Amino acid sequence: MTLVLPSIAERLKSVQARINAACREHGRDSAELCLLAVSKTKPAALVAEAARAGQRHFGENYLQEALAKQVELANEPGLESLHWHFIGPIQSNKSRAIAENFSWVHSVDRVKIAERLSAARPAKLEPLNICLQVNLDAEPSKSGVALNQLVELAQAVAALPRLKLRGLMAIPAPQQAFEQQRQSLARLSQAQRQLQAEGLALDTLSMGMSADLEAAIAAGSTMVRVGTDIFGPRQANAPAH
Ligand SMILES: *Cc1c(COP(=O)(O)O)cnc(C)c1O
Repeated sequence: MTLVLPSIAERLKSVQARINAACREHGRDSAELCLLAVSKTKPAALVAEAARAGQRHFGENYLQEALAKQVELANEPGLESLHWHFIGPIQSNKSRAIAENFSWVHSVDRVKIAERLSAARPAKLEPLNICLQVNLDAEPSKSGVALNQLVELAQAVAALPRLKLRGLMAIPAPQQAFEQQRQSLARLSQAQRQLQAEGLALDTLSMGMSADLEAAIAAGSTMVRVGTDIFGPRQANAPAH
């Protein structure tokens, strides 16, 4: 009898193989790379399938959808220790539920949201891990703090008691060529080094998606956020970010 792996497990394996190959090619230690599986718009059953294949970190963009999946998976044996990352735009009236139900938030781009997350983070939980989202290409339609306002935001967030500032996140404007992707992403690494020079102890660069994870690893990523190449394409009419 031949053993047929479930397709999510196979896809996870091939994404992990791409990560390992990119680490070898660019002189990175693959132990420094965390794979975040982006499960937005996908059913809880697929998250469970990925979790049974060993995946622990999941990224979600839409609060209500994410909470529904968390509830659905909470009673599944073996799936208690999943880490949920909120990676979508944050409306301030959602900040309490985000602070209560996630261990990471990658999309903080305003002091006001950070203050609300800190105030709402329950005392019984670890401080909430935060990445600041940077609008690298200054695209007017996109979320993210401008590069020239980043230091000020980072210092304000680092001072909040119930948050732990971990690093930066970006979604660069799409580029096809590896070298262009790498150059674009390298600007986030450079911004991270500037913050470190200001005395901020940051250890996370959240960059790289299905189409540019190799370039992101070349440019210093420590956390790649992969949706399509793990869970398959999303419906075209799903809300886009
Ligand atoms: C959807 C999404 C991803 C995953 O993108 P893919 O191209 O499907 O891998 C990563 N990061 C963020 C912030 C997203 O919204």
